[in-house]
Amino acid sequence: MPVDLLDFDLPTLVAHVEGLGEKRFRAVQLFRWIHQKGASDFAQMSDLAKSLRDKLAGTAEVRPLPLLSEHVSADGTVKWLFDVGAGDAVETVFIPETDRGTLCVSSQAGCAVGCRFCSTGHQGFSRNLRTGEILAQLWFAEHRLRARLGLQAGQRAIDNVVMMGMGEPLQNYAALVPALRVMLDDHGYGLSRRRVTVSTSGVVPMIDRLREDCPVALAVSLHAPDDALRDSLVPLNRKYPIAELLEACRRYLDAAPRDFITFEYCMLDGVNDTPAQAQDLVRCVASVPCKLNLIPFNPFPASGLRRSPKERVTAFARVLLDAGIVTTVRKTRGDDIDAACGQLAGEVQDRTRVRERLAQRHEVIPIVPAPAAGVLR
Ligand code: SAH
Ligand code: SF4
Repeated sequence: MPVDLLDFDLPTLVAHVEGLGEKRFRAVQLFRWIHQKGASDFAQMSDLAKSLRDKLAGTAEVRPLPLLSEHVSADGTVKWLFDVGAGDAVETVFIPETDRGTLCVSSQAGCAVGCRFCSTGHQGFSRNLRTGEILAQLWFAEHRLRARLGLQAGQRAIDNVVMMGMGEPLQNYAALVPALRVMLDDHGYGLSRRRVTVSTSGVVPMIDRLREDCPVALAVSLHAPDDALRDSLVPLNRKYPIAELLEACRRYLDAAPRDFITFEYCMLDGVNDTPAQAQDLVRCVASVPCKLNLIPFNPFPASGLRRSPKERVTAFARVLLDAGIVTTVRKTRGDDIDAACGQLAGEVQDRTRVRERLAQRHEVIPIVPAPAAGVLR
């Protein structure tokens, strides 16, 4: 099997290319062809030495993930579903905003953490994605959107990456870090550290390692102001309780590119959404410079949970704001194509024959020709 060049960050690609008897700068050229120009055909890489192209042919490839479907929402949100083999699929979502575009990327097929409110968690864990499978989502989305939006060389479609798709990124650390490095690399996607966000349910030792290895923006999925409730919503809390998690957050801020942690809080009707719990939350996070992001719960039948009514979310936010905490309520985007957090996984119940089931249950839009630029951004 040829090596997948999407698995390599730049230093690893340099080592690979030097191992083939070629110079370092050839690796930089190759890396730029792949990530900056979206090329996968070595023959197309016109300024790359013929000797290197010959050595790569047959031994290496840029391996895309097979695309199962593409859905474009009325609000411009795009959701792609990729086949990762053995009946598993992962989703990637592009969320256009007026001044920027955000890509929500998956890190695992399924997830082992098993949060009660998350359909990926209900699905169970299949496997970690490779670095190349994480990056293939960005590689595909960036170059597909650039072509569709008619962007000029040097313009990019995606300015932000959030590791908020399927899976717990810090439980796939070894594959995650090289992928982050390619996102940040000036010869790769050149994204700012502040615009690459790792979201975690709270894998404390890996938060410390990320601070050492590759500090990027950090979002922590809190969802509860006390251990008893968090234990029941996010089972990982039994291993790494809130106090330890908050200490790790404080340590992280020493090296973080932003001077705050984003806490995510999924609003669940009658579970974690009372004004008293908002007060508890204010006390809970008092020692960590932070922003609070309240996420309206996206219901799925197996959860047995409901979304908090709007007034309750507003009242909850009011308590936080009055305490001086910067608080936002996440807009739900792409509702019409089930592109909101983890919704697709609810459809994929037994993880077998994904392609057939999706074809039956979803209106699978065939890969569509480019719509007008205005539709997407
Ligand atoms: N595993 C990581 C990242 C993926 S989940 C984490 O848990 O942080 C990304 C975000 O979506 C998390 O904040 C998660 O709590 C939230 N989420 C999961 N299921 C949801 C649902 N059904 N409705 C709303 N938010 C959800
Ligand atoms: Fe895993 Fe995150 Fe879903 Fe929890 S919310 S089950 S950690 S993907």
